[in-house]
Amino acid sequence: MKSRANIPTRMRLALAAIIATLLLAGGRCDNGGGPGTPDAGLYHTYAEINDELHKLAAAHAQIAQVSSIGKSVEGRDLWAIKISDNVAQDEPEAETVFLGGHHAREWIAVDVPFLIASHLVNQYGTDTTVTRLVNQSEIWIVPMVNPDGHQYSVTTDRLWRKNRRNNGDGTFGVDLNRNYSYQWGGPGSSGDTFSEIYRGPSAFSEPETQAVRDFLQQRQTRALISYHNFSQLVLYPWGYTNAPAPDEPLLQNLAVAIADRIRVVHAVTYTPQQSSDLYLASGDTTDWLYGEYRVPNFTIELRPRSSFPGFELPENEITPTFEENLSAALFLIDWAIQQGTPPTI
Ligand SMILES: [Zn+2]
Repeated sequence: MKSRANIPTRMRLALAAIIATLLLAGGRCDNGGGPGTPDAGLYHTYAEINDELHKLAAAHAQIAQVSSIGKSVEGRDLWAIKISDNVAQDEPEAETVFLGGHHAREWIAVDVPFLIASHLVNQYGTDTTVTRLVNQSEIWIVPMVNPDGHQYSVTTDRLWRKNRRNNGDGTFGVDLNRNYSYQWGGPGSSGDTFSEIYRGPSAFSEPETQAVRDFLQQRQTRALISYHNFSQLVLYPWGYTNAPAPDEPLLQNLAVAIADRIRVVHAVTYTPQQSSDLYLASGDTTDWLYGEYRVPNFTIELRPRSSFPGFELPENEITPTFEENLSAALFLIDWAIQQGTPPTI
């Protein structure tokens, strides 16, 4: 009896698996999916990000615009999507920026900002919070800062971290998150070309970090999140020193608020802390933007918590990781808007 009862269950499960596979395949843009096409499973490849960002903007031209902020070492475009009402105009609205994928192997750190962009665009006009935030601010999302490294991680070496700079000595790659100029060359970076945290020959030596620098210098960014994984942390400056940042209470309060927003979604804990409490790191994005411009900004280390499974977060965690971080992103966009509100008398 037991086995007879089990057969239809197995069949149902098998059928469900086939249907799920078909649905997922149908829901993805595979760039043709032909032989030899780089495939990251449910994670997005460079070609898929490129294709889907342009489709989003084409289908929602009033609120979404795609542009390239520069090119990688190997000549790939660094795509940015701007999301705002009257998107073609540069309106005097609060700007919030989300960056993803400085490190090649951190695939979830590309998918989270990409999925946030998709959600904002697709829910505009339907979700009242999304509609208000998009109307009142300018949101910029660059989901893949290191496309060469990401591609190499997909096709050749899953655990590749750096970009694909030929260092000229048989080694490849600069750690883009040690290549920014503020306190460049300090502790937690390396001058050895083979090192995973090689900072490059000079600050902003890499076209990818130059592009992010030039882009941010043209904007009036009120707040920024740079996504990485893993460890489930919300990190605020400084990274180069254990000393507290001048605005530490503000940065800490925002990091706590971000972690709270994340936790209420799926009861997953991200710990808010000063970046240097994880380890010292000099020349990263957040120290530069805060050090040079005093912009409150954060590195979010996404799931998982520990080195098992580490960088290779299972595909079934993409959606919940996106969902909990959407909540935090909406909070930060709203906070940025509130900073522009004239004081009530
Ligand atoms: Zn990283």
